[in-house]
Amino acid sequence: MPAKGAPVPTETLEPTLERRRSQSGLPSIDLANVSVGYDHRRGRIEALSGISLSVHPGEVLGVVGPSGCGKSTLLELVCGLQTPDAGDVEVGGQGSPAERLARCALMFQRDLLFPWRTALDNAALPLELAGRRRGRARAEARKLLRRFDLAEFEALLPDQLSGGMRQRVAFVRTLLAHKPVLALDEPFASLDAITRAQMQEWLVGALATQPRTVLLVTHDIEEALFLCDRVLVVSPRPGSVRAELQVPTPRLLPRADTVTSTDFSALRARAIELLA
Ligand code: ADP
Repeated sequence: MPAKGAPVPTETLEPTLERRRSQSGLPSIDLANVSVGYDHRRGRIEALSGISLSVHPGEVLGVVGPSGCGKSTLLELVCGLQTPDAGDVEVGGQGSPAERLARCALMFQRDLLFPWRTALDNAALPLELAGRRRGRARAEARKLLRRFDLAEFEALLPDQLSGGMRQRVAFVRTLLAHKPVLALDEPFASLDAITRAQMQEWLVGALATQPRTVLLVTHDIEEALFLCDRVLVVSPRPGSVRAELQVPTPRLLPRADTVTSTDFSALRARAIELLA
């Protein structure tokens, strides 16, 4: 037991991938040779071309690539909101769009909180939509808001919260969908640099207590390398996997200790080179 006031050992904040995997019973995500295109006025545009990847149960996989390389399309595919033109997409071994949707919660860059609902009622929304009585939904949402240090803000409306708080409420709402897979689409891109760094630390802790299989897309290399177990670098459109970077874990908290380390700097330089 650490002495009162002593730093919490990193391992307790962030279980290793092996530990997350063995405890979780979470599904994997598998894409094999997937291509997707869109019809435009001047013909068809290929967004993804022959992309293959696997996210292991309990793993946090990052996807970085330039704007327009098909990152959002990839998340929509995984969540069953898109159908591939070719190839197979499976979540937990299930390939139908409905089965994929049943396992995935999608979180966007914009928090999409309802302005007329309090933080508590926004967080409780997926439980109400699942048929839970409002009182019981609120009680469960309140518990999670408390765990993530948001209890004192539960009665506030979104426009009374800071950007970081709104994203945290949105994340709690995403967790309360009780889906084993999280598809995160640039979740912190709209935040300022300092808040984004705080939110990244917060997310590492949140996933340690609420493990999920996570697919996170971002164009922020440092964010991907800090948050993820592995990072795939995707080529410009049509997106395909250009390289895979294994990130040494567990990460050190505070974040600054990780991102200023020699190993991390070398990995970041490699990723920048691959994206150039
Ligand atoms: P990213 O998230 O990496 O910016 P997207 O997946 O949003 O990339 O888009 C990939 C390509 O597909 C882009 O050229 C984009 O314009 C096109 N695209 C995405 N969604 C649609 C859509 N619903 N209809 C037509 N084209 C689309």
